[in-house]
Amino acid sequence: RERTFIMVKPDGVQRGLVGEIISRFEKKGFKLVGLKLEAPGKERFEQHYADLSSKPFFGGLVAYANSGPVAAMVWEGHNVVATGRKMLGATRPDDSAPGTIRGDLCIDVGRNVIHGSDSVDSANKEIALWFGHENLV
Ligand code: ATP
Ligand code: MG
Repeated sequence: RERTFIMVKPDGVQRGLVGEIISRFEKKGFKLVGLKLEAPGKERFEQHYADLSSKPFFGGLVAYANSGPVAAMVWEGHNVVATGRKMLGATRPDDSAPGTIRGDLCIDVGRNVIHGSDSVDSANKEIALWFGHENLV
């Protein structure tokens, strides 16, 4: 069954939003199959966001992501990659509809609370990067 990688970023962890975010995915009907709080260091985030390495905000993005522990999760269920992205909202909170996580919980693109895989292919790569050979439920 389809799986996606979801990560509550340091601002979300610091603001106490992990429970709220888990709750939204649980209530939707997805299954939590992996969960850990981790501060993996700069190199992990450089790999995780490698596709954005040429962007002017890349350095700031990596510093932000590495500014505190993150909550890394794997969620499973029907169409969870695309539906998860809809639940997150748009990259920029200004463009995120009310009812989405970013639409409801943040105002700054550089502090946008949560990451979600953008395709099944990225999900598989990100799950491998973050959970490696750890057993998922
Ligand atoms: P994520 O990959 O974190 O789920 P996303 O897929 O919605 O977000 P990406 O284009 O992959 O968006 O950008 C990754 C992250 O980089 C964004 O979530 C945001 O934190 C940051 N970012 C994107 N654009 C900007 C920008 N213009 N200025 C500052 N930070 C940005
Ligand atoms: Mg992305």
